[in-house]
Formats: sequence, structure tokens, C-alpha cells
Amino acid sequence: MDTITHYINGVTVDTQSGRHADVFNPALGEPVAKVALGTADEVDAAVRAAEKAFPSWAATPPLTRARVLFKYLQLCQQHVDEFAAMITREHGKTFADAQGEVARGIEMVEFAVGIPQMLKGEFTDQISRGIDAWSMRQSLGVVAGITPFNFPVMVPMWMFPIALACGNTFVLKPSERDPSPSLLHARLLTEAGLPDGVFNVVQGDKVTVDALLDHPVVQAVSFVGSTPIAEYIYSRGSAAGKRVQALGGAKNHMVVMPDADMDMTVDALMGAAFGSAGERCMAISVVVAVGDAGDKIVDALAKRTAALKVRDGMSSDAEMGPVVTNAAKQRIERLIGEGVEQGAKLVVDGRNYKVPDRENGFFVGGTLFDHVTPEMTIYKEEIFGPVLCMLRAPDVGTAVELINRNEYGNGVAIYTRDGGVAREFVRQIQVGMVGVNVPLPVPMAFNSFGGWKRSLFGDHHAYGPEGVRFYTRHKAVMQRWPNTASAGAEFAFPQMK
Ligand code: NAD
Repeated sequence: MDTITHYINGVTVDTQSGRHADVFNPALGEPVAKVALGTADEVDAAVRAAEKAFPSWAATPPLTRARVLFKYLQLCQQHVDEFAAMITREHGKTFADAQGEVARGIEMVEFAVGIPQMLKGEFTDQISRGIDAWSMRQSLGVVAGITPFNFPVMVPMWMFPIALACGNTFVLKPSERDPSPSLLHARLLTEAGLPDGVFNVVQGDKVTVDALLDHPVVQAVSFVGSTPIAEYIYSRGSAAGKRVQALGGAKNHMVVMPDADMDMTVDALMGAAFGSAGERCMAISVVVAVGDAGDKIVDALAKRTAALKVRDGMSSDAEMGPVVTNAAKQRIERLIGEGVEQGAKLVVDGRNYKVPDRENGFFVGGTLFDHVTPEMTIYKEEIFGPVLCMLRAPDVGTAVELINRNEYGNGVAIYTRDGGVAREFVRQIQVGMVGVNVPLPVPMAFNSFGGWKRSLFGDHHAYGPEGVRFYTRHKAVMQRWPNTASAGAEFAFPQMK
């Protein structure tokens, strides 16, 4: 069985901790590899390698850095299927969905190669007689990324292409559930000409995360994962004086107005709720049906949820694969049980789902609840599985109040034909990413991604222009040259002359 190791200073190296974790193929329910669980010393070695590589990389002209990333971009394009097969093997999502993930990751590199344009500062001539001022953005130093299991290729790519383009060096701590793509990233970056030590990978769990958060050389931490851990990362990292952006969990609602195109709505809900078995931070997990919209869609949703093709993600006709671990399966099934106990109407039950020839796989079938209320656990908790909950609301105002009361604020969508209703919804809703007849409004690479409320801790959203701001510091410069006789010392606060 393969051992997935660290990648430090251009070399793969196993842990000395004696600790490894099994990496499963969730469709088979069997371990397919082992991953190293690193130590604080191994984190230190990676951070020191990155620290050593920093001065030279930061001094490399942005266009030269961009050219290395351009080569990496071409290599990624040649390895799409290799990345996607790794994702399906260790995460479980369908191969087509995994290819889509890789494509969205590659777009981040396409953005990052434009870095010379984004690092241009501002210049003001003659802010006072004989004095000019300008601003510039400089890299931070060694920065770290800690990533979740659900996008093992794309989420790290929300971070390191921009961080590297800006002149930082990087330490990645991938999810221990699906760590293989991290080493392919490392290999391709090296092949593209990235100097050793500029990009490092440390595998592991809480031990490696805590060592990164406490390490005095690490200047900034980007995190994506669940809300309790995001909050922990934000408070521990910022207490250690670091810049932190920590993106957390979600409970994304879709409001369906009675005038919506119901066929379009049902299509959108099927993909947004059950794509990737609901394991997406932007998945729609709650429908808020306004007026009689619920009655119009419930039968079609039930029929299509029951007919979902749940298979090994490598099957060409799979619409949905397994969930990531047996623990995730057990938790999702327990939450479905609590929904029933608390009085929700279980329309389609995905528990105890069996896939022929994959009897040990971690499968949960598509599940649909109707008449869910805001007090129920299935409404309050992020289930992160293929479970769609429908609530009923008398009017759009009630739907907006419900969503604004929710602790999360990642994504939301409204389906309607009424432009006035949609416009007012967009203005009133307390959520970071909003779709109007678009179910998953995930911003493209040249915009930035981030939720509100307990879906994001920190001041900067991820990637795009916000990513450039996060990975750089602003410096303001004023300059005068001694071409006139000195006017003598000035003791009053300087003013324009
Ligand atoms: P997770 O929080 O369990 O793990 C994320 C990372 O934190 C992993 O690298 C893990 O090793 C590490 N970690 C876990 N427990 C830790 C601890 N106690 N101390 C220190 N580090 C720890 O999340 P996950 O299950 O891998 O991913 C799913 C979650 O991520 C969902 O809640 C989902 O909504 C969220 N997510 C959010 C976004 C977003 O953009 N907001 C995107 C993707 C996923």
C-alpha cells in the first residue's frame, strides 16, 4: 500500500512519528493508502525550508514567477484526468465532478499568472513641493494553507498559486482523508521550475495544524473547513500575531417563489443538493418554498431523488458517489433519524443504501424531507450529505427573516421570474454569495469567494483580488531629493506647501 509522505525542500520524506492514518476508497469501503501524520519538528523543517527559500523567491521579478506558474498551468492541463482519478479514489465524487473541480482549480492559476498587473502600485506626483508618493504591495514571507477533504485539488489552489505569484513561500497541510493530490501539485510545481523550498507539504492532523499556528516564522494562515475548527484556527492563529482567513461551514438556502420556472428549479435543486453527495460548502441543503411553490415541486423532487444513480464514482453513469468515510455515513443516517423523531416528513429515505458489487462502500441514498421547521436538528446542523430539507414560508419576507437568522451565511439562491422581488432579496439577504436563478453562485477565479457570519472568520475573502490583498502588505512611500537648499528643521506637523 502506498504511503503518502511530506514534501519538504523538494524531497518526499516520510514522518518519523510512527503515526500513519488509513486513506480509504469510500466506494469500496477499504483502505487504499496510508498517510503520514507529521510532528511539530517536521512542520519546523518545512517552515525553515520555506523561510530559506523566501528572500530569493520574493526578489524574483513577478513576470518570472508568473512564467513558472504558466508552465505549471500547462502541466495541470495535461494531468486533469490523473488529478480527477485521485479525487474520485479518495473522496468518492464522480469522475465528471472531479474533472470539474480540477478545471475550477486551474482557473485560479490562470488568474495568478496575471500577477504583474495586480502588483502595480499607485503613484502621486508632487504631493507637496518636491515630494512624490507611491504605494506598493509586498509579499509576507512564509504562509500556510490548511484544507478540507471536499475539494482536495481546488481548495489548495484557492491559496498557493496566488500566494506564490505574490512572492511568498508556502506550506500546505492537506486533509488527511484525501492527501494524494497534494504531492502531484508539488511534483508539477517542481517540474515547472519552482525552486526547492518555495512550496512544501506537511501531512497530518491536529498536531501539524497546531505547530503551523504557533510557528513564529509563519506570517499568515488560510484555512477552509468546518466552522468550529475555523473559529479555533482564527483565534489561535491571530493570538499568535498572524494574518488569518478561516472559511467555515454552511447551510445554504434556496428560496423558491410560486412564479418560478418549476422545471428549471427542480433541475437546479437536484444538482445543487445531491452533486458530490451534498459534500460541498455551497450545496443547497434547504429549500424555502414560498406559498404553494412546495406543492408544485415536491412530487417531482421525490421522484427524481428516489431515482438518483448512486454508484462508484468511476461508473460512467453515476450521478452521485459515496460519502467520504464510514463515520460520515453513520452521522448522516443518525441525523436523518433525528429528523423523523422531531416530526419532519421523510419523503425519500436514503438510509441503508446498498450498491451492487460495492456492499462495503460508504453510500447514502438521496434523502428528501418536507415540512421541516427551524427548531429541528436537521435544519440547524450542517449535515454535509445528500439530504435536502424543505421548509414552507407564507411570503418572501418570512423566508428572508429565516435566512438572516441562520448562523451561517455562505451561499443562497432565489428562483423567481420577478425582477423586483429578486432585486430586493439580493439587497436584504445577509449572505456572502447570492444566486438569482443560479443555484451555486461560486465566484469565478477573478472575483473572490467568501461567506458572511459564521461561514468566515477574518477580513479577507479567498482568491481573486481579495487573495492578492491577503497575501501582500501595503507599503506607502514618500520621497524627496536634496536638490534645493535645506529650509531647516520643521517641528510642526508636516503640511502641504
Ligand atoms: P474539518 O474542519 O474537519 O477539517 C479541515 C482541516 O482542519 C483538515 O486539514 C483537518 O486535518 C484539520 N483539522 C480537523 N480537526 C482539527 C482540529 N481539531 N484541530 C486542528 N485542525 C483540525 O473539515 P472537513 O470535514 O475536512 O471539510 C468539510 C467542512 O469544510 C464542511 O463544514 C464544509 O462546509 C467546509 N468547507 C467550507 C468551504 C468554504 O469555502 N466556506 C469550502 C469547503 C469546505
